Amino acid sequence: RAKSSGRNAYSFYTQALTLEAMERVRLETDLRSALQRREFLLHYQPQIDLKSGRIVGVEALIRWQHPERGMVMPDRFISIAEDTGLIIDIGEWVLHEACRQARQWLDQGIALENIAVNVAGPQIQRSDFVATVRRVLGETRLPPDRLEIEVTEGLVMDQAESTVAVLKQLSDLGIFLSIDDFGTGYSSLAYLKRLPIDRLKIDRSFVRDLPMDEEDAAITRAVIALADSLGLRTIAEGVENEAQVALLNKLGCQQAQGYFYGRPTVPEAIDWT
Ligand code: C2E
Ligand code: MG
Ligand code: MG
Ligand code: MG
Repeated sequence: RAKSSGRNAYSFYTQALTLEAMERVRLETDLRSALQRREFLLHYQPQIDLKSGRIVGVEALIRWQHPERGMVMPDRFISIAEDTGLIIDIGEWVLHEACRQARQWLDQGIALENIAVNVAGPQIQRSDFVATVRRVLGETRLPPDRLEIEVTEGLVMDQAESTVAVLKQLSDLGIFLSIDDFGTGYSSLAYLKRLPIDRLKIDRSFVRDLPMDEEDAAITRAVIALADSLGLRTIAEGVENEAQVALLNKLGCQQAQGYFYGRPTVPEAIDWT
């Protein structure tokens, strides 16, 4: 560490690192012990079936309860966790905790169709990823068809062949697969056709200015048409008002998720009625 190699080295470091980089280093240091200190928790956001208006699933979203900083959101620490490899253990904790919670809901008689878990590139690229998922499903006794794994469009398009093979194995286990933030990457349509995926999550950025923004409406309509023709389902992210719901319904989108229906919250606060 720079500090131990003397004053000059230390001042070199303080000058060379931008404030932003120093902040990342601090977060990284704390992140290393966060799992052991049990500082992570999952919030859940309802996913609504637009036809029936009922909750059919939830997405698990990680939060970090930092002892001094308070609640740290994933956009601030997931990329650090990915760069340091910490995402492997954190990601397995998320998977286990989400599956455990889903099992508990099922045991309470709740008609949960899917619990969605976000998975990062370094996780899915590990050779033992499928084995880890199988083991966690076994440990938590969650039927594979209740688990939904979300991967971003950028991730699947970057990784080509190896990712297709992993997704295929997950799909063969009966796990439901979604492409998150769809429309923000550069999907090759030919490639998309070959992926064993079940649904597209229409990115929040296209939903935000509906129904007024005509370009966003056109994009949303096109994504739903594409999904229909490939036999995929669709869910819209970031739905905040009734007017968005009305248009999404009209365009044939099946599900929606967003503040209009509920913010991500602790599991006890989800209203399943
Ligand atoms: P995402 O998977 O696309 O999740 C949706 C994000 O949009 C969540 O932010 C959610 O709180 C937010 N959101 C939902 N509805 C609305 C709405 O109506 N309006 C607005 N403005 N925002 C809405 P969050 O929880 O901060 O998570 C951000 C991202 O962090 C996630 O985006 C996901 O990429 C990543 N992430 C979260 N949890 C995990 C995790 O356990 N593992 C990994 N690898 N990534 C995670
Ligand atoms: Mg997601
Ligand atoms: Mg998303
Ligand atoms: Mg996102």
